[in-house]
Parts: sequence; structure tokens; C-alpha cells
Amino acid sequence: MPLTTMLLRQHGLAVTAQRLAVLRAVSDRAHSTADDIDRAVRAEIGAISRQAVYDALAALTEKGLVRRIQPARSPARYEDRVGDNHHHLICRTCSRMVDVDCAVGYTPCLTAADGSGYEIDEAEVIYWGRCPECVAATSVSSNGAKQQTSRTTSHQMEPARKEKDRRA
Ligand SMILES: [Zn+2]
Ligand SMILES: [Zn+2]
Repeated sequence: MPLTTMLLRQHGLAVTAQRLAVLRAVSDRAHSTADDIDRAVRAEIGAISRQAVYDALAALTEKGLVRRIQPARSPARYEDRVGDNHHHLICRTCSRMVDVDCAVGYTPCLTAADGSGYEIDEAEVIYWGRCPECVAATSVSSNGAKQQTSRTTSHQMEPARKEKDRRA
């Protein structure tokens, strides 16, 4: 029995071609958006409505086979790495998202300065910045000259600000 079929059964979900295809798509392309998954599934099994893909994603997420990550001001991403407390790095420029292992490994991995009496079970951590490709792409400016990097104290912040200005 294929692993995906077993996973669905283990989580009490009826095995359907749609769910299998969605689960495969999520597992093949970690951190995809629902749109990406919809496109991949459509390419694989053809006749499937967008709603069916979204429903399958919701069912898989609900049952814990798929994890949904909701970064601020951007579409949710999905992944099938659900068994651990890992975090994410997101590039502000190209939106690429990658995993970063949790230094602690269990939840909550950050201690609140003041928990206000809450029973805290998770700290959601997303690291924002720029990926190596985007850093490399902007460190060579349009005239081909290397960007000034001699002011080491501010050079990490500077490119990010420039990128924002360019987009504004
Ligand atoms: Zn990037
Ligand atoms: Zn991840």
C-alpha cells in the first residue's frame, strides 16, 4: 500500500484520488501556496475543481497530515513535515521559504517574559530576511560594480531598506 494511502487511512480520512494527489503535491513541493498545489494537482489528475483541491487541503490540514503556515501579508503555505517543531526562513524579496530546525526541538521553544498566566504551548517563529540568491543579485549593482560593503555595522540592514524603496 502506498505511504500516502496509509497516511490517509491512519488519520481516518477516506482515500480519494483528490486527497492522494493533494498530499503528493504538498510533499513534492514543501511550502507551496494553495494556488501552487492547485496547479500541480490539476496537471497531474486533470479534471478537478479548485474547490475540491482546497477542500482536500483543508481536510489534510485539519487531520494533521499537512501543516499550514500563515506568514504575515502573504498567502498560506503548506508542507508535510508535521512531526516536529521546526521554523521557517522567508525571503522578503522572492518569498522563498525554507525550513530551519528548532534549536530547542519542542514547544514552546521560547519562554515568554511574562506569560500573563496563560498556559503557553507554542511559540510561532518566522525568520524574515533575504535568501542568498537575492543577496547575491543585489550585491552586484546594475553598473556591474560591487556594492559598498565596507561599513560592516550597517551593511546587513542597508540592502533590505533599498529593496523596499525600489518596490515602493
Ligand atoms: Zn530571495
Ligand atoms: Zn517547513
